[in-house]
Amino acid sequence: MKFRGREAFTGSRPYRLLPLRFRRLPWDPSRAFVSSMSGDWLLMEHATLERVIDRVLAADDPVLTDMEARHLIARDIDRSTLAPLLSQYKARKAYLSQGPALHIIVVSLRCHHTCSYCQVSRKPTGASSFDMSEEVANTVVERLFEWPSHTLTVELQGGEPLLHFERVHGLLSRIIERNQREHREIRFVIASTLHDLTDEQVQVLKTYNVQLSTSLDGPEALHNANRPRPERDSHARTLAGIERARATLGPGSVSALTTITRRSLEDPLAIIHEYRRRDFHSISLRPLSPYGFARKTVARTGYSIDEFLAFYRKALEIILSVNHDGYELEEGYASLLLSQLHTPFSHGYVDLRSPTGAGLGAVVYDYDGQVYPSDEARMLAAMGDTSFALGRVEESPRTWLSSPAMRRILDAGVAEALPGCSDCAYVPLCGADPIDHYARQGDPVGHRPTSDFCRKQMGMFDLLLERWELGSDADRRVLEQWALKAPRSTPSDDVSEAG
Ligand code: SF4
Repeated sequence: MKFRGREAFTGSRPYRLLPLRFRRLPWDPSRAFVSSMSGDWLLMEHATLERVIDRVLAADDPVLTDMEARHLIARDIDRSTLAPLLSQYKARKAYLSQGPALHIIVVSLRCHHTCSYCQVSRKPTGASSFDMSEEVANTVVERLFEWPSHTLTVELQGGEPLLHFERVHGLLSRIIERNQREHREIRFVIASTLHDLTDEQVQVLKTYNVQLSTSLDGPEALHNANRPRPERDSHARTLAGIERARATLGPGSVSALTTITRRSLEDPLAIIHEYRRRDFHSISLRPLSPYGFARKTVARTGYSIDEFLAFYRKALEIILSVNHDGYELEEGYASLLLSQLHTPFSHGYVDLRSPTGAGLGAVVYDYDGQVYPSDEARMLAAMGDTSFALGRVEESPRTWLSSPAMRRILDAGVAEALPGCSDCAYVPLCGADPIDHYARQGDPVGHRPTSDFCRKQMGMFDLLLERWELGSDADRRVLEQWALKAPRSTPSDDVSEAG
């Protein structure tokens, strides 16, 4: 629910209600989460909120002081300004200031896996016609430096990019060479299974200070079932690749994420203990996406968002207890949402922005020279729907940004203006994601009451707030540490979910 600013009076002193939204707490409907336009919030009695709105509180009521500090009301309307609220708002949207900072380059579609939940259009390992050519790669590098962002994250992915290592090496070296004139801050990430990683490749990656991102779905049986290879050795190969990379690049050089299938739902403990056993201090529990092979196999591997949230609740409990045992382990998505709740900064996660990060925060260069605003748009195109193709790499970024596809994205890309979101108390902390809504519901605007994206977001915010409020002091300390560790909104922290 939302109230627009209007004047009210407490005795002789006026106060103004600033734009605010509220949501009754699912675990205590007599209370509400109340948020300001810029994402400051407090939990309060619903009856008290009604009294604030009905203007019957005394002028010196401490609740008004709390609400003023969070930009929910302004007292002394003759002298107060909106400057603090606007400055906070600007900090939340800092990601808008420099243009796309995340640049995903699809080096090859080839892959040796046949994962049922695969989001991409993988091709057999021998299909070299699905590799990026040198000509396309060189043009991509030129386009990269036409964007204004001083800090750039360049993510190389596939398929399996290491199957076309010659192109990987060529791109890294050309970007660095070109950057001698540009002086940008550049971070390299490669999303890979790591199965074919060799010592020689690791030495090359070390030269360019590359971070690796891989998939580890849990213990051996689960990982091999989710990520099959003919030899049934995917788990062993992933672990060998992780060890090989860590030995040269350092213990923090590899991050991993877990795609949650129906089978994964059964045993969160085993997944989390696998991460601990393999010395990871971060885990990302990622639900299935509605793209690629995942859509075809949804009946076998899929589940409802309610089932995912029930799994996540159990997993969060386990991760917190692992932390209480003295082993630091954070859940990536929780950290992101907690940073939204507990810090005044914005995050660098492109899928959770308003205005949307598609095309404004990220650009994807496909192996064949097509350009997309997000990996999800590329996956849709691989499924035959090119609605969100921006153009070709030979064209300029200006052409891409003025394309019909980009206009369609922007029309549905501001959460604060979308039906459902515009009244939602979580909207200052949430995102629009029009391409996800198009993929799931056939409409970039989408319908929030039946949207899986929305149910996941709302369920996660509710769960984290509930745990933060009702959990032990030790729980709170862990959750607050995660909030502080999450990437901030400097464009160099932009991240995607790949692999
Ligand atoms: S997607 Fe859902 S949770 Fe997020 S702002 Fe919109 S209505 Fe709220």
